[in-house]
Amino acid sequence: MLSLYATYITTMSNENITTIHEFDFNFICEFFLKMKRQGPGSPEITLKALSFIDNLTDKSFIADIGCGTGGQTMALAQHIPGQITGFDLFPQFIDRLNCNSKDLNLQGRVKGIVRSMDNLPFQNEELDLIWCEGAIYNIGFERGLREWRKFLRSGGYIAVTESAWFTEKRPAEIENYCMPHFPEMNTISNKVAQIQTAGYMPVATFILPETCWTDHYFTPMIRAQEAFLDKYAGNKTAEEFVELQRYDAGRDK
Ligand code: SAH
Repeated sequence: MLSLYATYITTMSNENITTIHEFDFNFICEFFLKMKRQGPGSPEITLKALSFIDNLTDKSFIADIGCGTGGQTMALAQHIPGQITGFDLFPQFIDRLNCNSKDLNLQGRVKGIVRSMDNLPFQNEELDLIWCEGAIYNIGFERGLREWRKFLRSGGYIAVTESAWFTEKRPAEIENYCMPHFPEMNTISNKVAQIQTAGYMPVATFILPETCWTDHYFTPMIRAQEAFLDKYAGNKTAEEFVELQRYDAGRDK
């Protein structure tokens, strides 16, 4: 199992989008709908990142890009004022987000929209905060930072999580596995340099604790895998899908 994410909070100072498209979208959706979140993280760590950000008011506009079913969107909404819009490619994720928003009585200021992160519907300098947990790699770290910057007003913030190497050198097996999946993986200091090059002033960087991967991601995933395999017993594609995830998580079985 790898613990590779670092979180960056920064303030303002053409490639193709790829997804886990080898598998049928309905499979991916159905599987991840069983989970509270679709990437590593936790409410506590969302709030830790939020603690570096100030000046939000009920007039603030916030975008949560690659929001999934909105795990972090709801954590944000319960702690900050303003309008929060989540964007994701999968309609079922967005439907779930909108249901959760209603259940929490947040529908007046928290909504989800189906939209690709390379085609966001904003004017220049419209946003106070861009949030993006476990998703910027889909557009590319440098490209996302570069293209989204214009949407932030002066003094606005962006908070993202991204895979990063904790060390200068890595075992070949780990490096060979990760690089095809995350070709932009780099050391934290190089990532921070990229943030600066994209025109932001870094405010804070920290490494996600391992529990963001274990308790909040892989453990719920094990339960979802078991339910999925029960439902699709004998279905080769479903079995391969689960097998790949188990390999990703460092479990062969
Ligand atoms: N932020 C959520 C989900 C992370 S998983 C969490 O941490 O729980 C990455 C998310 O990015 C998925 O929900 C996936 O559907 C979404 N995604 C992938 N490509 C995208 C694109 N081009 N535009 C918008 N969302 C995309």
